[in-house]
Amino acid sequence: MSEDKLYVTKSYLPPKEEYLAEIDDIWRSFLLTNMGPKHQQLNAEIKKYLGVENVELLSNGHMALELSLQSFGFSAGSEVITTPFSFASTTHAIVRNNLIPVFCDINKADYTIDVNMIESLISPRTVAILPVHVYGNICDIFAIKQIADRYGLKVIYDAAHSFGETIDGESIAKFGDVSCFSFHATKVFNTIEGGAACFSNEEIGKKLYRLKNFGIKDEEHVDGVGANAKMSEFSAAMGICNLRHLDEIIIKRKDNVIRYYEHLSRLENVKLCSMNERVKSNYAYLPIVILPKGNINRDYVCNELAKNNIFARKYFYPLISDFECYQGRFDSNHTPVAKWVSNNILTLPLSPYMTYDEVDRVCNIIKKCVEN
Ligand SMILES: *Cc1c(COP(=O)(O)O)cnc(C)c1O
Repeated sequence: MSEDKLYVTKSYLPPKEEYLAEIDDIWRSFLLTNMGPKHQQLNAEIKKYLGVENVELLSNGHMALELSLQSFGFSAGSEVITTPFSFASTTHAIVRNNLIPVFCDINKADYTIDVNMIESLISPRTVAILPVHVYGNICDIFAIKQIADRYGLKVIYDAAHSFGETIDGESIAKFGDVSCFSFHATKVFNTIEGGAACFSNEEIGKKLYRLKNFGIKDEEHVDGVGANAKMSEFSAAMGICNLRHLDEIIIKRKDNVIRYYEHLSRLENVKLCSMNERVKSNYAYLPIVILPKGNINRDYVCNELAKNNIFARKYFYPLISDFECYQGRFDSNHTPVAKWVSNNILTLPLSPYMTYDEVDRVCNIIKKCVEN
């Protein structure tokens, strides 16, 4: 095979000299971690970029979710409504807090939580809703807020895919009690490994600050059973560099998404997410649903792409509720839309480094698969 391998994503790296200049300070300060100057600088810059008051940087997006849930002090066995159509982290964060996930179905239009079904899942033990802005598609945050207010529930968003997005000009980080972002290498904005929680209540922020550092309050007092989830200075330095380039990264992703849509939107058996006019997207992913017809289905298209050195991924398949580690606990037939989407979805290669020729290469194979 002569053509280069194309993966579902390619991590962004800033110009090497820029990163080297940024970490040079560390050789003078000898501060490698523990909320040093780079950590403080990145924290301030993210606040400014998102236009929010409260941000806590963390070692990764998963710990943002896990420690945010812990910071509310929910009693063991309480229920949290979420969706099974996500990355493992979302549900694991609930279960690792000794809370019970209650799976809500997703809607067919953008694969976010079906807000019409949430109320029917609320029980006397429900304490929170944990919806996912999956692929950067923004949940119906207004309906979710109404339900949460009516029943006195907390809302913790898994915003891992949606850093930098706005709705009606407002950062999505401002919605819910907490929004958790991932800065993993594969995300639109990365700090190698990293994450952040944006929150409305400063008390939650104080708890998060301690929980990410073993629950240490001061030299002689430890008042929480915390973890170690601090972002290192080297990761923060990467974030400082990458944040400078984020707007240009998003523009390049957008150009590629538009090119994909030009090719694929006319295909009868391919369904794309519709663009929400009110949302300024970060173009994080390119998920397509292949409507099955005869032998032509998602797995067939995925295999044909792989034969041509194009490695799309079946995100999100299987559903979390079907994972081995949760065997016997959940029935994915209770979330039929999520099950169907999971069986037919394929996430195509997308990165700021991708060229139009590469987008064309992917689309031509898909066209050949479905147009016969
Ligand atoms: C990436 C991701 C996470 C976890 O983030 P990490 O930084 O990898 O720990 C959580 N939820 C979703 C939906 C993700 O895609």
